[in-house]
Amino acid sequence: MSASIVLKPGREKALNRRHPWIFSMAIKKVVGKPGIGETVDIFDNQGKWLAKGAYSPQSQIRVRLWSFDQQEAIDLAFFVNRISAALDSRQALIKEQQLTGYRLVAAESDYLPGITIDHYADTLVCQLLSAGAEFNRHLIIAALEQLFPQHKIYDRSDVDVRKKEGLEKTQGPIKGELSEELSIIEENGVKILVDIANGHKTGFYFDQRDNRRIAGGYCRDKTVLNCFSYTGTFGIYALKNGAKHFTNVDLSQSALDIAKKNIETNGLDLAKVDFVQADVFKLLRKYREEGKTFDVIILDPPKFADNKSQLNGACRGYKDINMVAMQLLNPGGTLLTYSCSGLMSADLFQKVVADAALDAKRDAQIIGRLSQASDHPIASTFPEGFYLKGLALTIR
Ligand code: SAH
Repeated sequence: MSASIVLKPGREKALNRRHPWIFSMAIKKVVGKPGIGETVDIFDNQGKWLAKGAYSPQSQIRVRLWSFDQQEAIDLAFFVNRISAALDSRQALIKEQQLTGYRLVAAESDYLPGITIDHYADTLVCQLLSAGAEFNRHLIIAALEQLFPQHKIYDRSDVDVRKKEGLEKTQGPIKGELSEELSIIEENGVKILVDIANGHKTGFYFDQRDNRRIAGGYCRDKTVLNCFSYTGTFGIYALKNGAKHFTNVDLSQSALDIAKKNIETNGLDLAKVDFVQADVFKLLRKYREEGKTFDVIILDPPKFADNKSQLNGACRGYKDINMVAMQLLNPGGTLLTYSCSGLMSADLFQKVVADAALDAKRDAQIIGRLSQASDHPIASTFPEGFYLKGLALTIR
């Protein structure tokens, strides 16, 4: 008999809507002594069985639910089934865009809370973020070995959020060794170099794939400024689409070094590309002082808000860069602007951009609403899975 959790009266509502989290304050009592990450049964106050999930004693998110089916055991078959379902749901995308790099499992959004798995050509990279994911690590790895017997497996669970779950950061090879070289993935006929061991997140931003393609379409014969470029993949699409000149800006020199290699690897003209190691906030102002202008500007900053208390500051940050970017655009120019802060709703982001236009004294017309690529789905029961939003605007 596994340990169990009894909810306070009325607190079963979120579960009835199949939201995958139970917060600590919803819990009336814990029966038994579940260990960190162990599977527990969840009952309502009347003793009705509701779900089973992973117990995380140190986190405000006290339980992450695995299943609403009492008969479903959390075993190897469970992980094989869920991961195969995630793979199946991506097959059309993989084929259509000829992907060797994609997010295979997007955690809660693929009904596997706390588990991110990215596919990089011959290597799978795991990020296990929750107590339940860590507790079942051996089963998750065994499932991956069963489904992808030829693949290497690498752990990039070196993230701060693990602390909230009472877990240490971990990183390193699980099966096979990474080669000394950077990994190469392909999407839409573009080659992209990825530093799996040292890159951001698990190495790369798959979520911007559709937006790279869309951006390319705005860049023919244009001068383009790509702020927060990371490894410069927007630029590959832009140059393939005939951009006149492209400037990548990032704080990270190692990201810019890969950006340069990305241009070479795709046989594109390095003479058309600049790589600027700078703080975007300062550089945009410097360009404004110098009277520099561009036809297209891409703004893809890192997450500005990790919690609600940071949201106001985040709004100020977004407004600031958007305002100055608008001032740098030639009349009729295009701004492609994104926010990957989940706490910032699409409505709020639009308001911030509208305020930026007022302050910039420019007219801004929304010509496109942008989102995360479909290998980052949004489960209808987990709206929090929607985090990346963007706007394409004509600035006059
Ligand atoms: N656009 C990229 C992803 C951007 S991630 C892509 O499509 O792959 C955010 C990037 O912003 C990171 O590479 C980080 O190094 C960089 N960054 C963070 N703060 C910055 C700042 N103030 N100025 C310039 N770059 C910054």
